[in-house]
This record gives sequence, structure tokens and C-alpha cells, in this order.
Amino acid sequence: MSEKSVIIIGAGVAGLAAGCYARMNGYRATIFELHDLPGGLCTAWERRGYIFDGCIHYLFGSGEGQPFHAMWQELGAVQDRPMINHDEYQRITDGKDTLTVHTDPDLLQRHMLDLSPEDASLIGPFCDGIHQFTKFDMSAMYHKPRAIMNLLDYRDLGMAMLPYLMPVMKWSALSAGEFAKKFRNPFLRQAIPQIFSWDEAPVMMGMSLLAYMHTRNAGFPAGGSLEFARAIEKRFLDLGGEIKYKSQVEKILVENDRAVGVRLYNDEVHRADYVVSACDGRGTIFDMLDGAYLDRRIEKMYDGHMSTHSMMQVSLGVKRDLSHEPHWVTHLLKKPVLVAGEPRHEIGVKHYCFDKSLAPEGRSVIEVIVRSDYSYWQRIYGRRLYDTEQTQVSGIIVDHLEGWLPGIKKDIEFVDEATPLSYERYTGNWLGSTCGWLMTKETMPMLIKGVPKTLPRLGNFYMAGQWVEPGGSLPLAAASGKGAIQLICAKDGKKFVTSNP
Ligand SMILES: Cc1cc2nc3c(=O)[nH]c(=O)nc-3n(C[C@H](O)[C@H](O)[C@H](O)COP(=O)(O)OP(=O)(O)OC[C@H]3O[C@@H](n4cnc5c(N)ncnc54)[C@H](O)[C@@H]3O)c2cc1C
Repeated sequence: MSEKSVIIIGAGVAGLAAGCYARMNGYRATIFELHDLPGGLCTAWERRGYIFDGCIHYLFGSGEGQPFHAMWQELGAVQDRPMINHDEYQRITDGKDTLTVHTDPDLLQRHMLDLSPEDASLIGPFCDGIHQFTKFDMSAMYHKPRAIMNLLDYRDLGMAMLPYLMPVMKWSALSAGEFAKKFRNPFLRQAIPQIFSWDEAPVMMGMSLLAYMHTRNAGFPAGGSLEFARAIEKRFLDLGGEIKYKSQVEKILVENDRAVGVRLYNDEVHRADYVVSACDGRGTIFDMLDGAYLDRRIEKMYDGHMSTHSMMQVSLGVKRDLSHEPHWVTHLLKKPVLVAGEPRHEIGVKHYCFDKSLAPEGRSVIEVIVRSDYSYWQRIYGRRLYDTEQTQVSGIIVDHLEGWLPGIKKDIEFVDEATPLSYERYTGNWLGSTCGWLMTKETMPMLIKGVPKTLPRLGNFYMAGQWVEPGGSLPLAAASGKGAIQLICAKDGKKFVTSNP
């Protein structure tokens, strides 16, 4: 019997994972990717010998034998790849006080108590919670898509989750901003939200990150994000998969309410037994499928009320070795600066000297990420103002850097700016979102419950990636690619299998 075939839209980590698992399970698999590179958001770019990493700060599953690691092994992503772990997640300073976010919860607790003994009643439970989450197997939620879980699967999931039910409920219902406001110490009130990246993030998110950093399961893969994605691309090709680059899908073809293939923008038509969309959710549902397969839930999801996350990244190549500096310092500003029309109260500065492969000898890459509104950039796109504004933002950042790293201005060899529009252009993600739906205490329950991976009334079609896994992230994107193939196997009555390279 000839192999059944799967077309996958997008060679991001979700699409590559779907491709690998499709091949492991005997499906012919072709990925269509608009770009000429694998990885999607999981990427990096080289400029004058500097590699500017555009993605991974921490990879859940980096630690052997720990949650998500087996999946990365199956995808050939972690073999022979050193993982760089940090004892300090970052430092947060206002120039007077400094919060060093130790990944060891005991050390963190002692340090936070030194800074603010009057907040002991908050610091204790917070650090205890980090301890608790060190044993939390988040990957248990992704062993199988909810749609094909049987009673035994639910029992196993229940058993895995039961000890964490109370902490998950407690810490996912509280946002970083709300938690910070409870602190009496004015410096910690300002510093705490920075641990969680954004105010709306559920506290549980930052706690589980620190927990996994402590257990060495949230490291940085040496070589960076693009190398990581390329390893999965290699695994897919070695398994006999095919990737067609510079091939942007325009429409998903449907006959009798079943997906039967895709049409590219160059009018090529490709047919398959199944279609998996592993790219932008909104583009898939409303453009590629013309909004023909909707229900109230989907309409609501995409009506614009849910938060997404867009940002600007300024990357610098500098003729200076910064290895002796802490790798990530967030500076709380005395006076806010206006960045792309919005006041910013902090600037996070990260260097990548922990991975020597990312800059020439004696030189360093510095990266500054600032949350930035998509619509601001869209309003000025296509006019000279767009370029001027980018230069203005990097200028503001460099001026501040000069204060923290005196003389750095004259060491700068290359400046690179990426706006929310760059992310949209390169990956097709709606509003340039870097994680699909932003992880908040509102989207957290969606993540726990699981977002459906199919559309109403449409057969032989599945969705994977960050738009069906709120909060995004590489492990969840990959797990949803795997999930799409588990659903296809279940439909064909086949046992889902995995293999290691
Ligand atoms: C700055 C930054 C930092 C991050 N940090 C981390 C981190 O530390 N840890 C972590 O786990 N995650 C992190 N993430 C999030 C993570 O990168 C994403 O959630 C994940 O990569 C999403 O993968 P995906 O495959 O779902 O989507 P994408 O990566 O967006 O892939 C979709 C692919 O589809 C392609 N495509 C789109 N439209 C079409 C079309 N019409 N036809 C053909 N191809 C198409 C795109 O070009 C793209 O390659 C970060 C992201 C960013 C941007």
C-alpha cells in the first residue's frame, strides 16, 4: 500500500516537528515554507561575523532525562549540543539596589529577604513555590492531544497534575503586576515584574522558569536558535521528508469539506491526504480558508480582544569582551524614555559572551528587547519615518548603554534593528506576535484545557504551533506538531510511534 501524504504549511519548529513525526509514522511529508530558512521565529542572523540570536533565552527540555528532553532527542535537536545554564537568570537594578535573580530558590530567598525582610510573607511562599515546581512535569500535559485521550490517559494526567493542583491554581490566577503590588519594599515592587517579562504574565510562568533553570532544564543550546532549528531540519530530511522553501501557501484547497492540498502564490497546486497548518492562526483560518470554517469560539479568539506580544530587538556587535559582566541586566530607569511612542520604564541589556560561537574573538553581541506596539510601526511603514524611528530607538538605547558601559559607543561595529513588522514580514505572524497569544492569567486556563487543533466541519485538516498553544514557546510548538500527527494516526487507526536518530 502506498504511503499516505501530509502537507505541512510552515517550517517553524511546529512544522518541522510535525514533519519528523509524520515520517516516523510512515507518511510522505512535504513542508512548504515562505522563507528560505527553517525555524520561523526560532532564528538568528549573521552580520559582519556577529550572530544576532532572535529567539532562545531558555529551552525547556534542555536537561537530559527531564521534561520535554525525550521529544528534542526524537527531533535530533539536542544530541551533541552543549547546553549553557546560568546560576543567575538576570539582575535587576535601579542603580542603587540590585535584585539578583538566582535560579537556586534558597539563595534567591536569602537574597530577597536581605533586600526586604518586611516582605518575608511573600518571599517565602514564592520561593517554596519555585521548589515545588522543580518536580512538575509540564510535558505530561502534551503526551497526547486532548481529543484522543481515553480514560486511562486522563487518569495518568490527573495523577501527574494532582500534587500541583493547588500551587497551579494559586500562582496561575495571580499576575506578575498584581504580585509585585503586594510588596512593601518600593524597589522590589518595581523589580519583581521584570522576572516575568511582562506585567500580565501569571506568576506561575516565572516560577516554573526559575524551577527549570534550577534543575538545569532551561538552558541555552550552544550555537543558538538557528543551529537548533537546522538540527531539526536535518532530522526531517534524514527521515526522508521534503521541504520546499520560498513557497508561500495562498489557499488551502477543500473538496466536500475535506482539506485536499494547497495552492501556492505562484499558482502551483499540491495535493495530499492531510494538511497541517503550522503557521499563523489568523492567516490560516481567515485567509487560506476564507473564514469558511468558524464557530463562536474561534470568532471570539480572533476578534482582537486577546493580547499578543510584539517587540523591537536592537542588536549590537561591539569590539569589546563583556564576559566579565553579568550576562543580563535590566535597568530600571529614573525617568521613562519614549520608545516608539510609548513610555518605557526599564531597559534590559543582555550579552551573549556565554556562547563564544556568536561573536568573533574579543568581541561581543549585545541585545536589547523592548516591548513595542505593532500598530505604531504599521502606521509609519513605507515612509522614511520608519527608518528614522528605528535609528532613533537604537540611538536612545545606545545613549543609555554608554552610561552603564562607559565608552561602549565607540566600540560599536554594527547595529541591527528588528521591529514587530520585521517579525510579521519574516514569519507571517499576525501583529508580529512572538508567541501567538500572550500568556496571561486569562489565557492560562486555555492552555491547561487545550485549544482544539481542528476546525469545525473541516475534515483532514489540523493546526499546530503557537496559535493553538497559548503562550507559544519551542517545546509547546514542537509538541503540537507531534500532536497533529498523533491525531492523523488516530484517524487512520494506526499506533503512533516515535524513534531516535
Ligand atoms: C525574541 C523571541 C524570544 C523567544 N524566546 C523563547 C525562549 O526563550 N524559549 C522558547 O521556548 N520560546 C521562545 N520564543 C517563542 C518561540 O520562538 C515561538 O513560540 C515558536 O518558535 C513558534 O513556533 P511555530 O512553529 O509555532 O511558529 P513560527 O516560528 O512562526 O513558524 C511558522 C512558519 O510558517 C511560515 N509561514 C507563514 N505563513 C506561511 C505561508 N503562507 N506559506 C508557507 N509558510 C508560511 C513562516 O515563515 C514560519 O517559518 C521566543 C520568540 C521570540 C521571537
